[in-house]
Amino acid sequence: MSAGSRVNHGLEDPTLDVIQGQPLFHGVGADGLSALLATAGIRNLAAGETLLAPGDGNDRLFVVVTGHLVLRVSDDEEAARVLGPGDLAGEVSLIANAPVYSRVIARDAARVLTIPRTTLWRIAHREPVFTCNLLQYLARQLAGVGSAMRTARALQEEYRQHAHTDPLTGLFNRRWMDERLTFEIARSELRARPLCLMMIDIDHFKPYNDTHGHLAGDLVLQTVAATIQNVLRESDLAVRFGGEEVVVILPGTEASEALGVADRLHRALAGSGYPVVGGTPLPRVTVSIGVAAWQAGDDAVRLIRRADRALYRAKDAGRNRTSL
Ligand code: GH3
Ligand code: MG
Ligand code: MG
Repeated sequence: MSAGSRVNHGLEDPTLDVIQGQPLFHGVGADGLSALLATAGIRNLAAGETLLAPGDGNDRLFVVVTGHLVLRVSDDEEAARVLGPGDLAGEVSLIANAPVYSRVIARDAARVLTIPRTTLWRIAHREPVFTCNLLQYLARQLAGVGSAMRTARALQEEYRQHAHTDPLTGLFNRRWMDERLTFEIARSELRARPLCLMMIDIDHFKPYNDTHGHLAGDLVLQTVAATIQNVLRESDLAVRFGGEEVVVILPGTEASEALGVADRLHRALAGSGYPVVGGTPLPRVTVSIGVAAWQAGDDAVRLIRRADRALYRAKDAGRNRTSL
């Protein structure tokens, strides 16, 4: 057959053994193979050459014969997929009759078999085994996408957790509290349940840092955070509000119970369990606590402001105490 009668004018002719060597054509009969020989072509790509670009129309199926292509759905390197011999490109746009959605570039010098849409459908009509091969390939790709999506979701969840926690203390961070406190207030209002907010600040922590060093300060801050967690119930939510200030949201808690929690915290901090540095435990710290009970009409800002004012009364009254 002359080159002029070919659909893929200008392409190198594929040989029978190249076609038969492709998993996609395993078991395909003589009719299908001759259709391929008559209309398919081999395209040689230089490294870096673009085969498909997003938005392009596409009426070919590409089968990698030698070399590698890189398929990019986005700029994200992680999401790039390498296509090697036997892999297909352009199959989604071709079958869906839709614009190309990913960029396909030759990673190294590559040879690809190009099959026109009409040939592809002709073989599919005549050769059930070809359709099975194609379906199998597509199913494997879908399985890969499914597992990539599960991994991505797990990562997303991990990032979400990180986005909500403070790395030093493991408590929730301020950003998380801004969302959650409003929600907790609304829930208390709806269920007519009490809610308390506790603002905790370490006493004289600046001189503590100055005397024992910032690293010792960090260790004590972690100890205070862990001690707070220990005296709380499951449903209580501790947040690192600022440097050495912790806010605790106590849903379903009356002021009298919150004062009990504060009292337990003062006592726990006066006990043992401080980090040992250079053979001796770091000196203990005390905290001052302001407690505010939610009242009808309070929003998050008002509740925090009341707890803050109570905290400053506790500081003014001599520290290491709780004020309501
Ligand atoms: P007060 O009793 O009035 O609270 O006195 P204070 O010295 O604790 O005063 P203030 O609460 O204003 O000081 C906060 C100090 O806490 C400043 C800083 O030295 C220390 N601090 C804040 N964040 C951190 C931190 O992440 N690590 C360490 N080591 N220190 C911190
Ligand atoms: Mg402070
Ligand atoms: Mg302080």
